Amino acid sequence: MQIKRLRLTGFKSFVDPADLRIEPGLTGIVGPNGCGKSNLLEALRWAMGENSAKSMRGAGMEDVIFAGTATRPARDFAEVSILAEQVGEDDELEVVRRIERGAGSAYRINGRDVRAKDVALVFADSATGAHSPALVSQGRIGAIISAKPGERRAMLEEAAGIAGLHVRRRDAEQKLRATEANLTRLDEVIGDQE
Ligand code: ATP
Repeated sequence: MQIKRLRLTGFKSFVDPADLRIEPGLTGIVGPNGCGKSNLLEALRWAMGENSAKSMRGAGMEDVIFAGTATRPARDFAEVSILAEQVGEDDELEVVRRIERGAGSAYRINGRDVRAKDVALVFADSATGAHSPALVSQGRIGAIISAKPGERRAMLEEAAGIAGLHVRRRDAEQKLRATEANLTRLDEVIGDQE
């Protein structure tokens, strides 16, 4: 997957709509302290489904909404859109996450309402996601170096693009268990009838 554009509206310090075009190759973000470099990476992770407010450096998820300054009022919502191209597919993929005060988060893929889980799967199948080791924020390098074997394995699996398969396997196992329970119940009902 090649991410081509990140669009932020009302997300943290990005009160006005801001477009960040991401060209193939290495992208560097430079700027003075506090200008919003980390906020950009957080916007990317947030739109991919990050659900820990703490890892967004906030107390609650609504803290990602522009909180206002001395000259500008706070916003009621924040929205981040990721435009991406998938390998071997012609159509572009647009993933949007929006949060409104008091109403929580909503996700869309190409204009269609979807669940957070659907968004996570799209990115997991492309070997990325909100917790991908490819997104290295400040302080993460040390954590990656000192990761335990199990954590390292999870990183390798994510890099290999098979993290999504684990989620699907868990779903399939749950359905299998539910079907087995139904079959047992059916046997009991048939037994009662005989
Ligand atoms: P450094 O180089 O020091 O790490 P940075 O460029 O990574 O800085 P960020 O940490 O991304 O900067 O941005 C911090 C700025 O974002 C601060 O000025 C902070 O006030 C602002 N900010 C964070 N959350 C919000 C919010 N909800 N509303 C308005 N501004 C916010």
